[in-house]
Amino acid sequence: MQQLFRRGDRGPAVAEIRAKLERLGRLDPVGGENLTNQTDILFDDVTDYAVRSFQQERGLRVDGVVGPETYRALDEAHWRFGDRLLSYRPGHPFIGDDVTTLQQRLLDMGFDPGRCDGIFGRATEAALQEFQRNVGLRSDGALGPGTLRALEQLRRTVTGGSPSARREEERLRRGHGALAGRIIVLDPGHGGSDGGVAANDLVEAEIVLDLAARIEGRLGALGVTTYLTRSADTCPDDRERAQFANDMAAEIFVSLHLDAMATEHASGAACFYYGASRHGRHVRSAVGERLADLIGREVATRTDLVDGRVHPMTWELLRLTRMPAVRLDAGYLTSPSDAARLATPEFRDALAEAVVAGIQRLYLPEHLDVPTGQFRMPALSN
Ligand SMILES: [Zn+2]
Repeated sequence: MQQLFRRGDRGPAVAEIRAKLERLGRLDPVGGENLTNQTDILFDDVTDYAVRSFQQERGLRVDGVVGPETYRALDEAHWRFGDRLLSYRPGHPFIGDDVTTLQQRLLDMGFDPGRCDGIFGRATEAALQEFQRNVGLRSDGALGPGTLRALEQLRRTVTGGSPSARREEERLRRGHGALAGRIIVLDPGHGGSDGGVAANDLVEAEIVLDLAARIEGRLGALGVTTYLTRSADTCPDDRERAQFANDMAAEIFVSLHLDAMATEHASGAACFYYGASRHGRHVRSAVGERLADLIGREVATRTDLVDGRVHPMTWELLRLTRMPAVRLDAGYLTSPSDAARLATPEFRDALAEAVVAGIQRLYLPEHLDVPTGQFRMPALSN
C-alpha cells in the first residue's frame, strides 16, 4: 500500500483497514448508515480515533493517516501466539506480534532471542533451539505444536541464565542436596472451565492450583526445577498432562486433587500410585508406591486429616507417566471440617510441606531417613 488513507476517504481499501481494526477488537463491525455498500465504506471519526490510538500504542507517528508503516503494523498485529507455525526464513522472515510473544517468553526463561522486535531472525531461531534442547524436544528451531505446548505449559519463568546452566550451578552449590537439579512436574487437577468439585464455598481447581504454587515455591528453594501442567485458565486432558511430564523428562510427577461425597461424613486424604492385580499377576510401580506411602504418611502426620491410606490405581494419568507418579487427594470439600481446614493458607502450607518432605525422603538413602513428620526444610539462604 503506497497510498495514504485518512478521515473522509471511502472505498475498498478503507474497508480493508476497518476489517483489520475490527479483528484487533479496536472497532465494532460496521452497521447502519455507514454500511451502504462494502466498497463504499467511510473512514469516519470512529475509525480515525481507532487508528490514532493504535499508532500511539505502537510508537508510530500519531496522525490518523494510514500509510505503509501503519498498514504494515496493522498487518503484523493480528497474529496471535500459536496462530501459525514459525521458523527462520532467510530473506522474508516471519514478522508479527506472535513472534514478539515468542521472543518475550524465551527471554523470560533465560534464553536470548536478541531484541524483542517481532522479527523471527537467526538469534530467535538459536534461542528456540536451545529451549527445545533443554526440554528434550527435537531442536529444529521451529515453533510447531509440541514446542508451543511446552512453552504454553511452562507457567514458571526461570530467570538468570539458561535453565540447564542454572541447574548445574545449583547442583554444585548444594553438593549434598539430593533434590537440587531435579525436575518435578506438579499437576493441579482440573482448571479453566472445569472447576472440579465445589462445596462449602471452595472450588477444587483453585485450591489445588494454590497448593501447587506453595509446593513449587518450596521445591524451588531446594534447587528443583518445577513445571506445572496447567495455568489458571487451561485444562489439559489426562493424556496431555502425562505427555507433558514425559516431554519435560520429569523424575517425579505429583497430581493434586480434592474429593467430594454425597455425605458430609466422608473425610481425609488418600494417595494413589500405578498398580493393579490382574489374572493373579500384580503389576505396580514400586517407586510410585514408596513415594505415595511417604507423602501419605507425611500428610497424615503433619495435618490432622484422616489417613485414607495408599491405593494402587490404573488411571491413565498414572499409567502414561513414565516416572514415579502419585496422585494426592488432599481432603473432601464436602466435609465441613476438611473444607474449613483447606480454606486456610496455613493449612495449605502444612500440606505443601508434607508433600515436599515425602519427596525429599524418597531421595534419602535408607540409613539417613528420618521419622515421619521430622523432616525440616534447610534454612533458606537465598
Ligand atoms: Zn479432582
